[in-house]
Amino acid sequence: MNQDPFTDFQRLATEADSLARDLNAFRQELNRVLEQNAELMIENKHLRGRLDQLSGQNKQIDKPEMLPSRRNLEKLYDSGFHICNEMYGARRENNEPCAFCTSIIYGNGDRTSSRV
Ligand SMILES: [Zn+2]
Repeated sequence: MNQDPFTDFQRLATEADSLARDLNAFRQELNRVLEQNAELMIENKHLRGRLDQLSGQNKQIDKPEMLPSRRNLEKLYDSGFHICNEMYGARRENNEPCAFCTSIIYGNGDRTSSRV
């Protein structure tokens, strides 16, 4: 070490300053990222809630499409009875499927509404 101690000190001080500046910039960047992360988490939460709301609405839209009367008919059909105009109330032999019945339950025909 034949250098002037004061020069050494100057150099170290400059390095320390620059290190402090870097550290400060890094901390600001870290804060910015953390803030952004928090914002995104909140936004994500809101969007998730909105999504749940929308899918909940969809469920509510889907359900009325299957009218309660239609569901009752389905229950009747499932327990082995015809619900079609052709054989209404008759037992379905061996649970054989009936195209008329299923078209009433699952089709978009208005035959149920004319009956109910
Ligand atoms: Zn039938």
